[in-house]
Amino acid sequence: MTFKDLGIIDPILKALEAEGYTHPTPIQEQSIPILLDRKDLLGCAQTGTGKTAAFSIPIIQHIYNDNKHENGRRKIKALIVTPTRELAIQIGENCSKYGKYASVNNTVIFGGVKQSTQTRALRNGIDILVATPGRLLDLMNQGYISLKDVKYCVLDEADHMLDMGFIHDINKLISVLPKQRQSLFFSATMPKSIIKLSQSILGTPKKVTIKPEQATAEKVEQALYYVSKKSKTKLLIHLIQQKEIDTVLVFSRTKHGANKIVKQLAKVKIKAEAIHGNKSQGARQRALENFKNRDTKVLIATDIAARGIDVSQLELVINFDLPNVPETYVHRIGRTGRAKNSGIAISFCNIEERTYLRDIQKLIDLKIPVVTKHPFADEIEELPTKKSKGKRQKKHIRTEDRSSNSSVNKSNNGKSKSSDNGGSGNRNFNSTNSGKRSTGGSDNHSGNWRSERR
Ligand code: AMP
Repeated sequence: MTFKDLGIIDPILKALEAEGYTHPTPIQEQSIPILLDRKDLLGCAQTGTGKTAAFSIPIIQHIYNDNKHENGRRKIKALIVTPTRELAIQIGENCSKYGKYASVNNTVIFGGVKQSTQTRALRNGIDILVATPGRLLDLMNQGYISLKDVKYCVLDEADHMLDMGFIHDINKLISVLPKQRQSLFFSATMPKSIIKLSQSILGTPKKVTIKPEQATAEKVEQALYYVSKKSKTKLLIHLIQQKEIDTVLVFSRTKHGANKIVKQLAKVKIKAEAIHGNKSQGARQRALENFKNRDTKVLIATDIAARGIDVSQLELVINFDLPNVPETYVHRIGRTGRAKNSGIAISFCNIEERTYLRDIQKLIDLKIPVVTKHPFADEIEELPTKKSKGKRQKKHIRTEDRSSNSSVNKSNNGKSKSSDNGGSGNRNFNSTNSGKRSTGGSDNHSGNWRSERR
C-alpha cells in the first residue's frame, strides 16, 4: 500500500516524498480512506503512530480541492485543538511540511507568550488553525477568531485534554462550531468520560484503533532496572556514561525532581536541561531546540511538558520514575521508536513503584525484561501474581557481578513477542521466554548499541 494507492493528490505526494515517507503507517492506512470519504472518525491512538499525518493529510487535500477558486483573504477552514504548546507547534510544523506544495497554510496559537505575532498571522488569513484551548477561547472572545467557516475539526489527545481540566473549554468550543462539519477525535485511552465527550462531538463515526501493545512491543526494546530511590541518579549517570548515544530523554515525575537531576548531571559534566511547566515557553522551546540539534545530550522532562516531543532518531528514553498512570508509560516510550525507527526504553523501579510496574505490565501485556546485573541492582521482590494467590514470590537476583556488564531476563508471560520484531526486538538483551535467568554472558545493552542496532 502506498500513499498514491490511498488516493492522495500529487502536491501532497511530492511533500511526503520530500519527507522520506515511503509507506503509510497502519493508522494512516486505516484512517485516510475514511477521512477522504468525509466521514467522522474516532481514533484510539497515541503519538508516535503517525497520527498527525493521518488526520492532517486528508484535511489538506480537502482544503486544496475545496479552495481551487477561493479569492480574497483565507478563512479558517480547519481547526485542530490539542492540549499542549509543544504538540501544537509540532502539528503546525507537520501541516506546513505536508501542505507546502498544495499552498494550504496554517498558524499555531498557544498561551504563555504574547499574542501579537499570533493575531498578526490570523489577520493575514489562514486555512488551518492549530490551537490549545485556552488561547483559542481567549482570542475568540477578543474577536480575532471566527470559527463560522470551519468545515474540519480535530480534537487531539482528548484524554489529556480532560486530565488537564479543559472540559469546559472544549464544551464551549463545540457549541460555536458549525453543525455541518467533519469531526475527528483522537485519544490514546477510551474511558467512559472520553466516550461521552466524543459522542457530543461526532456524528456516527468510523472507528480506528491502534493498540498500545503494537506501539510498544513491536518497535521499542524495553528494559527494567530494579534500583533503590537513592541510587537512581548514580545508575542514570552510569548508563549515560556507558552508552554511545546522542540523545536521551529522561522522565521525572516532578518538576523539582527534573531540576535536581539536571544539577546532579552537571556535577559530572553531563550537559542536561529540563523542561516542565514552571519554565517559560521560551526556555522550553530553547531546551527542546538544543536537544533536537544534539547540543544538549540529556533532556529531563515531566509528562505534561513532554507530550508529543518529536525528536527524530531519539534513541533512548529513561523512566527515572515510573508513571502511576499505566497509559503514560506507553506515551513516554512512544517518544522513541517513532514511525519506522526502533528505540530503547529503560525504566527504573524502586520498591514503592512496584504497583505501578504491575499495572503497566498488565496494560502492555508484557513482562518487561529485567537487567539483573548492574552496579546499583536492588533486590527483586516480585509482586504477587494470580497464581501465587497473594503470597509474595521472593526472587533474589545475584548481584555479585558488579562490572558494567549486565544481563537481562526476558519473560513474556509465556508469549513470545520478540518474533514480532523479526528477531530484532530484544537484540540487545539476553532473552529467555520462561523468565529463567539468562546465562548467556554479558549484556550488550551496556556495551556498544550502535553496532548492535545496525
Ligand atoms: P506522530 O504520531 O504524528 O507524532 O508521528 C510520529 C513520527 O512519525 C513523526 O516524526 C512523523 O514525521 C513520522 N511519520 C509519520 N508518518 C510517517 C510515515 N508514513 N513514514 C515515515 N515516518 C512517518
